[in-house]
Amino acid sequence: MSFFNSISRSMTRAQRGSKRATTPTSATFSPAEMLPPSPVVSSPKTPPIPKPLYLSSPFVEAALVKGNFKTIVMLPKYVDIMEWVAMNIFDFYTNLNEFYGVITECCTQQACPMMSAGPTLSYTWINHDRKNVHLPAPTYIDYVMTWIQNLLNDEATFPTKSGHDFPQSFPSTVKHVYRQLLRVFAHIYHAHFHQILHLRSEPHFNSLFAHFLSFGREYELLEIKDVKGTSSSPVGVGQLWEAWRDMGILEG
Ligand SMILES: [Zn+2]
Repeated sequence: MSFFNSISRSMTRAQRGSKRATTPTSATFSPAEMLPPSPVVSSPKTPPIPKPLYLSSPFVEAALVKGNFKTIVMLPKYVDIMEWVAMNIFDFYTNLNEFYGVITECCTQQACPMMSAGPTLSYTWINHDRKNVHLPAPTYIDYVMTWIQNLLNDEATFPTKSGHDFPQSFPSTVKHVYRQLLRVFAHIYHAHFHQILHLRSEPHFNSLFAHFLSFGREYELLEIKDVKGTSSSPVGVGQLWEAWRDMGILEG
């Protein structure tokens, strides 16, 4: 089923939980800063890179959910598709925020001066002057998570009250949200997977990410090019996506 082709929604919607995570502390920023940054190549000359741990056995197979994720992303009967997407985005955001909260003391301006997501890839942010700038990963992630939290709290964007409709712009908004959440996952895998391992949280984190990927593909929220990157600046998790697809965890 195509999310964007589906405009029908039931008249009555179940209420999502009104209790939401507290807003991360951060300076506010204007909508001009919200435009998704584009990846840049930092250096083409890199020595052969050892295989990241997240691609290595047994960590690549570690998961709480066994088998294919297709069944858990399917739209339940009688549930409105917009509501289903909104609810899942709220859950992905909340869970990812909690994981990031645990590793946040390792993700510092010194340790992560850029929003890296692969050996030759770091994402840039578009600033007030519409210039691509590198931000330290903790700053970038704080901007992203604050922006999403504010959207989730905005009744006009993510309506929770019965009788309030989702706006026309909802599909495009959630695609932007999804793209930025993917970048946060990509940074954690690339720069902080050893900390996830140290906490023995890799089955949880892998399951969350596989669920996120599967849901994003099912409802056309996720572009494959964003998952894989380019040949000169691949996203580290692009290989993870391929590995899971080959293992039958994800669909093609
Ligand atoms: Zn970091």
